Amino acid sequence: MPGEFEFIDWLRARQTPSARVPVPAGDDLAALRFEAGDGLILVGVDQILDGVHFDARLHAPERIGRKAMNRNLSDCAAMACLPTAATLSLALPRGLPIDWTKRLYEGIEAAGLAFDCPIIGGDTGVWDGPLAVTVSIIGRAGEEMGQTSAAKTAAKTIPPVRRSGAVAGDRVYVTGPLGGSILGRHLDFVPRVREARELVARHRISAMIDLSDGLSRDVAHLARESSVGIVLNAAAVPIHGDVARLNDNRAPLDHALHDGEDYELCFTGEGGIASAIEVGRVVAEPDVWIEFNGQRQPLTKGAFEHRL
Ligand SMILES: [Mg+2]
Repeated sequence: MPGEFEFIDWLRARQTPSARVPVPAGDDLAALRFEAGDGLILVGVDQILDGVHFDARLHAPERIGRKAMNRNLSDCAAMACLPTAATLSLALPRGLPIDWTKRLYEGIEAAGLAFDCPIIGGDTGVWDGPLAVTVSIIGRAGEEMGQTSAAKTAAKTIPPVRRSGAVAGDRVYVTGPLGGSILGRHLDFVPRVREARELVARHRISAMIDLSDGLSRDVAHLARESSVGIVLNAAAVPIHGDVARLNDNRAPLDHALHDGEDYELCFTGEGGIASAIEVGRVVAEPDVWIEFNGQRQPLTKGAFEHRL
């Protein structure tokens, strides 16, 4: 079986445009509009699998549950939309203790409620395979967060940010240091929903993605969807303190570029955004590069790809 991304390309080619699906596939969430004039509904689904995204023998069920919900919330952040509700599907290994399962659920639920996103439905099945947790999320492109209802009515609607809006001359940013998430941050991250909303309220943000596959791969997604190139500045890529604790033979920058599951945001937009870390620039020529002391070289897409 070829890689995951080849399969996704095949799926995308089969999608037919329609009035109710005004935005083609290619973003962190799908977009749906029931009637002309309605706001966009954003919909996404994400699964985590025992042995791939967590280890049920090692990790506390609450942490696994939080990760399942927070990956979906991170996809909402990637489009700067507001999480609204979620549904849940659990494939439960036969014999899993009920108390453990309840703690798993409580982790999912608490992560959602931290962003005003309740679980509104779901399904469970018991089988002889490993635990799989699938959360589907519904978001809205809405008013700014935390406002009173009167202010909400008057507030401007913030449209979802897509991956396809980057233009040559834009700067490239990340919201935090990268690499070494395997030490625990891949389970315990905070989705950048609030940061995304603040960014789009204050600045011109042209394209955005959450860093799940690794910076090298995720900037390539932005470049491809926007039909532009991206040049990263090696000296500017922020390296998380966890990388030093890994104590392996790989260069720290290699971890920051290629490790997955940082769940920071990577976005393009106007220059001078002080609340994020500028790591590169958008250029017209399509491809991705990394620059060392002004010398460009192709950015190898070394991050992991889930195997089907
Ligand atoms: Mg994503």
